[in-house]
Amino acid sequence: MPLTLALVAHDRMKPALAAWAERHAAELAPHSLVSTATTGATIRAQCPDLPIHAVKSGPLGGDQQIGGMIAEGRVHALIFFPDPLTPQAHDVDVKALLRIALVYDIPAAFSPATADLLVAGGLLRAP
Ligand code: PGA
Repeated sequence: MPLTLALVAHDRMKPALAAWAERHAAELAPHSLVSTATTGATIRAQCPDLPIHAVKSGPLGGDQQIGGMIAEGRVHALIFFPDPLTPQAHDVDVKALLRIALVYDIPAAFSPATADLLVAGGLLRAP
């Protein structure tokens, strides 16, 4: 069955997430993708053929929307590249997103290296 994956990155990490999506575009294509607004726009610019449903920008509630979707069982995996070197105004939302991913024990990667391992481990295997 196709999965719904959430793709989110802080500003300095957006190029890394767009590169990850491009690297795995063929494996991502059969699945549904949801992103916070600016992350979605960045990925779309690099991978125009990947359909991405965008929610609000993270600082405007997008992280909470994705957390809600995880709680409702509508997001099955989270690829989230936070910026470890820059303070975020919406830090509490970021923490909440990490926490809810742990509460529901969905596959989650917080770095390109781990996101590659999830794919190598079969996360996106033909649905
Ligand atoms: P953005 O939000 O994709 O709209 O930048 C991501 C975030 O900062 O959590």
